[in-house]
Amino acid sequence: MVMTKICNLKENKDPLEFREMPQPKPGENELLLRVLTCGVCHTEIDEIEGRTPPPGLPVILGHQVIGKVEQAGRKVSKFKLGDRVGVAWIYSACGQCKFCRSGRENLCPDFRATGRDANGGYAEYMTVGEDFAYPIPAIFSDAEAAPLLCAGAIGYRSLNLTGLREGQNLGLTGFGASGHLVLAMVRHKYPKINVYVFARAPEERAFARDLGAVWAGDTEDETPQKLDAIIDTTPVWKPVVEALKNLDSGGRLVINAIRKEDLDKDYLLKLDYPAHLWMEKEIKSVANVSRTDVAEFLKLAAEVPIKPEIEEYPLQDANRALVEIKERKIRGAKVLRIS
Ligand SMILES: [Zn+2]
Ligand SMILES: [Zn+2]
Repeated sequence: MVMTKICNLKENKDPLEFREMPQPKPGENELLLRVLTCGVCHTEIDEIEGRTPPPGLPVILGHQVIGKVEQAGRKVSKFKLGDRVGVAWIYSACGQCKFCRSGRENLCPDFRATGRDANGGYAEYMTVGEDFAYPIPAIFSDAEAAPLLCAGAIGYRSLNLTGLREGQNLGLTGFGASGHLVLAMVRHKYPKINVYVFARAPEERAFARDLGAVWAGDTEDETPQKLDAIIDTTPVWKPVVEALKNLDSGGRLVINAIRKEDLDKDYLLKLDYPAHLWMEKEIKSVANVSRTDVAEFLKLAAEVPIKPEIEEYPLQDANRALVEIKERKIRGAKVLRIS
């Protein structure tokens, strides 16, 4: 399923084209993967709608890829034919800059993203450098493993960036694929942290309560307790302003969104300094993931185990899965079944 143009998903509900492409050839340090499954992420919508446009078209989207090693370049040493591996958003980083040298390769100026700067997993085959592939624990099915690679790994990074400690109160605004994995992670790592979920749809709020949230309300509701940290996974601005209102003194809002949509940007004018920012409240964004985030999260997810709730679609239905994310028809994580 190939992206050939930038367009608005509201006007064009079939933005990706189903077509034949030549099978890619692995370089000497690369693996050729036969793709088994690929997760569907809101970031694909940001690419299609031009908020984080691919540098070249056509491109194959998809950055939560589970595949089997079908061929390996002659210098490959970590994997053998038939191994099951994952590929995440980080396709490559330079390895030389100050960020790469200090464990922050997610901030590398030459960061290349899978399914944006290189072809990704909405396809039968893809190639990836062996250093940017991860063994997948046997406990996960091909479909369960896919959402762990982005929704899970970036949720893990977001949770670490909150600086939260046991016994504190965490808010999640937006409750899609990443939110529900963060909730599962928190319940395992910090059983005394209470989780409060803000979501527009009543079904999402019910889902959050099922998974152990102590409270679930609408975006603008006030929580019974002030919160020490909130993770925002929504594509818009209203939840940012409303979350700041519920943040306790010294609290931190972590925005996990590669881009925000402009449609409700005016909402930022409601920002009231004493109510929303004073008392040393902080706002921090999350950018990309490092290989350490992905590897550590996969290990944690296998230990717990954290198994995402999934909805499967055939590859040809990728457009339908994307439109459903756009229309917030979400329960858990959407995954394309490819072979
Ligand atoms: Zn993603
Ligand atoms: Zn770098």
